[in-house]
Parts: sequence; structure tokens; C-alpha cells
Amino acid sequence: MPHAIRFHRTGGPEVLQWEAVDVPPPAQGEARVRQHAVGLNYIDTYHRTGLYPAPLPSGIGLEAAGVVEAVGEGVDDLAPGDRVAYAGGPLGAYADLRNMPADRLVKLPDPVSFEQGAAMMLQGLTAQYLLRRTYRVQPGDTILIHAAAGGVGLIVCQWAKALGATVIGTVGTDEKAALARAHGCDHSIVYTRENFAERVREITGGEGLPVVYDSIGKDTFMESLGCLRPLGMMVLFGAASGPVPPFDLGLLAKMGSLFITRPTLFTYSAKRPDLLAMAADLFEVVVSGKVRIEVNQRFALKDAAQAHRELEARRTTGSSILLP
Ligand code: NDP
Repeated sequence: MPHAIRFHRTGGPEVLQWEAVDVPPPAQGEARVRQHAVGLNYIDTYHRTGLYPAPLPSGIGLEAAGVVEAVGEGVDDLAPGDRVAYAGGPLGAYADLRNMPADRLVKLPDPVSFEQGAAMMLQGLTAQYLLRRTYRVQPGDTILIHAAAGGVGLIVCQWAKALGATVIGTVGTDEKAALARAHGCDHSIVYTRENFAERVREITGGEGLPVVYDSIGKDTFMESLGCLRPLGMMVLFGAASGPVPPFDLGLLAKMGSLFITRPTLFTYSAKRPDLLAMAADLFEVVVSGKVRIEVNQRFALKDAAQAHRELEARRTTGSSILLP
């Protein structure tokens, strides 16, 4: 009998339940995937708590890698036996077997393992659009990425470095600082004890940055704006410390005609040609060795609640996966 993690009410990690589920034959446009590894992402905690509301009861999770077992009518570019991965589509990746819209699946290149595939699709495609599309990082740019030792963070550090940028990264502890530096971060700032905006001013000789990538939200937002140079771009892409309260747009003028955007991967990858181009770009940097995917935590899928506790307590680094 297939199993999945589901939740019937929003709340703490304890609401996540391991349940037997029915997986019907794939409908038109769907493929049934036997999942070998599932990605753990911070966004999963937003669904579980209700910050991003989902109709209840609900499955959870947006990323996994596995093998196609069967395809529904109209699916002609995938066949049983194909190795695939995905980031996005309907909630429900925390499962050993599921049906997925086939147009969300990407074939995994041979050198990429299921574990890597599950660990890198969501965080890696995010790094791709942040660095290549939202603000196109140029050689010689200095950039700031918060939570530099996290899943998105370690990928952004390595990729930005490979693009010729100088990378400033904030982290919660000295151990995380060392890890970020080992992955291309030139200047690590322990923002739990140092004022990161002051450090950024020092590092840039008072000039400020062309871009800040902020996924922390409430606790860092105002100081992140203070790190930007005139016409700089604030990319607010997450809310690990909580959502940013309402904000006076007039401040953007006073602070130097700043730009601000609140992007999500799901807009950037909504059209299949974009998804495939982004995935090809990601696979290239991983297969060529420019970006290493660090799977630093592995949990049994049925222990997803424990995985959420570790992630929210800031005890994880790099990427985490759940194993069915
Ligand atoms: P991470 O591995 O980065 O884990 C989150 C990290 O945030 C923690 O390890 C911690 O690092 C830091 N953090 C700072 N303050 C807090 C806090 N109060 N509570 C918990 N953590 C805190 O997660 P992911 O790589 O999965 O995601 C990173 C961020 O990117 C998330 O905010 C996520 O929502 C966002 N995201 C956005 C996407 C988009 O398209 N908009 C897509 C993918 C991810 P430290 O201890 O070093 O501070």
C-alpha cells in the first residue's frame, strides 16, 4: 500500500501524519512516479503552519526524484523507466508513490543521483532564477545572500562565485560561516552577533551593493535595504523569520530609488520551456562541478516531523532529503 505524509490541521510538526493512500492509475497528462528521494524545503513549513494556506486535509512537499512507472493518455515524451525529478506542481511530494502532471517532470541526466535530484531541484532552480534572471549577476559584482549555509544559500554562494561575483553571506553560527566560506563565500557575517549592514558598508568601502537576496524576511528586511547602493535591487524571496510587515514605499525613494521584488520560483518556471531551460542551466553547473549539492541531512520519510523540527531550529546546513 502506498504511503504519504499528510496533515488535517495546520500547526507544529506534530500535525504531520504518515498515512496509507490510494494512488489511482495516472489520468490524462499525468505520470506515476516511484519516488526514491524527496526534497525538504523551508516552504514546506509555510504550508504546514498555514502561512501559505492549503485546502485541508492536504499532502505536503513540492520536490522529489524517482522513476516513472506508468503514464496517462497524451503523455508521449516520458516512458516507464525514465529517471525524473520535479520542483512544484500540486502539494504531495512527501510520498513513496504519486501521480504528477507530466509537464512538471524533468529527466535527470545520468550523472545526477536521485538523492542529488531531490536535494537540488527546488533550491537549485531558485538559485538559477535569482542569479540569472531576477538580477543578472555580472563578473565583478558584490552580492549579499542571507542564510548562506542553508540549502539555497550554499548553491547561491558557489554559483555566484563561478559567475565571477564577490559573495557576502550571513549565517547563524561560526560553524556555518566556515561551511559557507568553503563553498565560495568570500565574506561571512555571523548576523546573530554582528550588525550585517555595518559590515557590508565596511566591505564595500561605503558604496553598498547592487543586489541583496533576502529570504529571512521580518528580522533582516530593513537592514537589507540599508545595504543597497542607489538603484540597487532588493530581492525578498522568503520569510524564515516571519513575513515583512506593511511597508512605506516612499522609503525606497529616500534610500536611493531602490527596486524591490518578491519573486517565486513558480512564476519563473510556470512555462515548460522556461522550466527546461532553467533545469538545463542547473544540471550544467552541477555536472561540470561548479556547484556541489551538499546533502547534509537524511531522514526517513515517515520521520518528516523531526526533519521539520531540525530545519526550523536552524540545525540543518545545505540540503536535506527524506527517504521513502
Ligand atoms: P534553509 O536551508 O536556508 O533554512 C533556513 C535558514 O534560515 C536556517 O537554516 C537559518 O540559517 C535561517 N534563519 C534565519 N532566521 C531564522 C528563523 N527565525 N527561523 C528559522 N530559520 C532562520 O532553507 P531553504 O534553502 O529551503 O530555503 C531558504 C529560504 O528561501 C526560505 O526562506 C525559503 O522560503 C526561501 N525560498 C524561496 C523560494 C522562492 O522562489 N521565493 C524558493 C525556495 C526557497 P542561519 O542559522 O544561518 O540564519
